[in-house]
Amino acid sequence: MRQLVRPIARLITRSMAAFAVLALAAQPVAAQSVLRDAETEELLQDMLDPLLEAAGMNPGQVDVVLLNDSSINAFVAGGQRIYIHSGLINAADSANEVQGVLAHELGHITGGHINRFSEGASKATSITLLSALLAAAAAAAGGGEAAMGVLAAGQQAAMGSFLAFSRVQEASADAAMVSYLKCSGISGDGAVAFFRKLQNLEYRHNVRQGDDAEFSRSHPLTGNRIQRLEESLASDTPSDSPPADLVTVVTEGVDVDPQTEVIPRGAASCRPTQQPEAETAALEARFANAKAKLFGYLAEPERTLDFYPVNVTDEPAHYARAYAYHKQALVDRALAETDALIASEPENPYFLELKGQILLESGRVDDSLPPLREATRLSGSNPLIAGMLGHALVATEDPANLDEAEQVLRAAVGRDRENPFAWYQLGVVYGKRGDIPRARLASAEQQIMSGQPQLALSSAEAAEARLPAGSPDWLRAQDIALQARAQLERARDRN
Ligand SMILES: [Zn+2]
Repeated sequence: MRQLVRPIARLITRSMAAFAVLALAAQPVAAQSVLRDAETEELLQDMLDPLLEAAGMNPGQVDVVLLNDSSINAFVAGGQRIYIHSGLINAADSANEVQGVLAHELGHITGGHINRFSEGASKATSITLLSALLAAAAAAAGGGEAAMGVLAAGQQAAMGSFLAFSRVQEASADAAMVSYLKCSGISGDGAVAFFRKLQNLEYRHNVRQGDDAEFSRSHPLTGNRIQRLEESLASDTPSDSPPADLVTVVTEGVDVDPQTEVIPRGAASCRPTQQPEAETAALEARFANAKAKLFGYLAEPERTLDFYPVNVTDEPAHYARAYAYHKQALVDRALAETDALIASEPENPYFLELKGQILLESGRVDDSLPPLREATRLSGSNPLIAGMLGHALVATEDPANLDEAEQVLRAAVGRDRENPFAWYQLGVVYGKRGDIPRARLASAEQQIMSGQPQLALSSAEAAEARLPAGSPDWLRAQDIALQARAQLERARDRN
């Protein structure tokens, strides 16, 4: 444990910025926190986009949010988001299996189905960055080791809640899934394999009693259901027929929540043939990397090293071990693993991002700048990666770096507001400049998305009072104050 604590202590003395990450991470862990990572998000979106096109939607119209939860689950909660648990990624053996799940969940969205778990989703307020490993290290140092073993045991949990809809809705989502997979030329083998896997787990763990068992009884993964799935996947129905037809037929008589936003769909454009093998292989390789990275990030290092022993030298193994060693504060070993990754793909921004992260978090702040700049450039200024570069620039404590830090961080939050860490860093930059109103505004942004409406309200009001009236920043401060007041009122009503 001391090994973990030492580099953290070093960073704290080195910069207050690093402390910010610690402070955020030290908040009580919410039931479900959002796990953000540039590489994983891009991959999941690339897996979903062809399915969206098959459903007559635009790429990016629905996005995927990864939740830090070891149970095997995925759900929709109204709106245009699919939530997927880290436990599901861990349980899946291929990108193709996850695509089956995504297609099924998309079927719930396009069908406008009611989800009983929408409450659960709104609880997922805290945001964790996969790229801020200090969070994990701090949790371990604080005794949250149970949280670190999240991928270890929780297979039996929430088996039932994977399917939380009525049988008719499930059938409808299955039909949509088949249609979307066929229309996008994506194999349905993964979907069938994954459902079988869930069914086996259900048998093995005998599905525990209680609410989950209730769901499981009413929405069973029966052999019938899987067989029906296999048959419809194998059938020769023309794959270019608009999926809406199929969905409409099956959803007749299905409850549609009048509150649920039903997304208007355009005409689907179907691929006439299976996706080219090279395309599929590239996606699977990316999935193997992302899965290994997630495992290395979440599991205890010993467990990671068991799963990815040193004699295995493919990219996923290097990736997972880099995280394990970094968590053990074995910096040289962690860097050797990332250097092996970079040697195999010198232009991969995520490998460079990890190298920069390891250097930054082990106190070699100046050394972290070149790989982070390169990662930012190669990723087309991905906001999460740029946010880390901004953090590193602030952590140098060199006033000469403030301009670049501000520019990088402003661009990052401009493209992706849901990054409390980047907002925090931006607040630090403004603070160092003596621009207190904008520092308060940045704090308000960070606090409102970290579930701290009371603090957000006072920061926003302080900012509003001193910003030029009518300026965009002033308007934004008012917005946040409004949002914070609404949240506080809702909280009061609940009590
Ligand atoms: Zn479902």
